Amino acid sequence: MKSVAERRNQLEARKADLLARVAGIEAEFDSHDAKDWEEMAVERESDEVLEDLGQSARQELRMIDAALGRVDDDSYGECVKCGATIAEERLDLLPATPFCRDCAARL
Ligand SMILES: [Zn+2]
Repeated sequence: MKSVAERRNQLEARKADLLARVAGIEAEFDSHDAKDWEEMAVERESDEVLEDLGQSARQELRMIDAALGRVDDDSYGECVKCGATIAEERLDLLPATPFCRDCAARL
């Protein structure tokens, strides 16, 4: 079983990763400013892809922050819905998940 400190490290590492990715996406957006119209039409499509990536990264960041909050109040690893202990293997794969497998399946 992984210690809470290990889980926290895992979450913090993932968070740093995502923050770097979001920053990269924003830098990419900025670099798209001040181009001529033709170029902008081409880039509009890739901007949409970037925006999707940015959204999912931000959503995951919110989940990680919530998980870190649960680490702080000692409820990490418990399902927020039913209170069951979330399986280790599940936390290995999805360290920020707030739900046990059963509750996640029911959502
Ligand atoms: Zn549950």
